[in-house]
Amino acid sequence: MIRQENHDSTEWKPLPPGSLTAFARRERSKRRWKQLTLAGTPVAVLVLLVLVSLRLSDWSQPSQPTFGGIACAEVASHMEAFSDGSLDQSLMGTIRDHLSECPACRQKMESMKNLQSVTSRNEPQNNFNESSSPHSQLLVASVK
Ligand SMILES: [Zn+2]
Repeated sequence: MIRQENHDSTEWKPLPPGSLTAFARRERSKRRWKQLTLAGTPVAVLVLLVLVSLRLSDWSQPSQPTFGGIACAEVASHMEAFSDGSLDQSLMGTIRDHLSECPACRQKMESMKNLQSVTSRNEPQNNFNESSSPHSQLLVASVK
């Protein structure tokens, strides 16, 4: 009985039920994948192009960082007036914000202050005191 069934199956070679539809489905999904990748390639290229152009527009912008909403070049142009305190209150604040975020400008400002203290030290009225701290400036004022 079992033998008979085995013999039948080898001769008949019926496909297991559903195998044909499964095969067709596999083929269809394969084709769909091919279509997807075919359609996806231009899309991917487009996305890449958009990303690259975004990047390029970033690069085409001035490379100078703008800390505190102001560019380093602008800070540099106002630096002298800033150290004098002769600037707009709002601009003073903006530059102060910039300096707190921008080490390059902070360094520039420091070196300028040093230069100023050197030149002020050379002035006769400040000659007797080496330091330019607020305390010594107070002393100078009280002496005068
Ligand atoms: Zn700066």
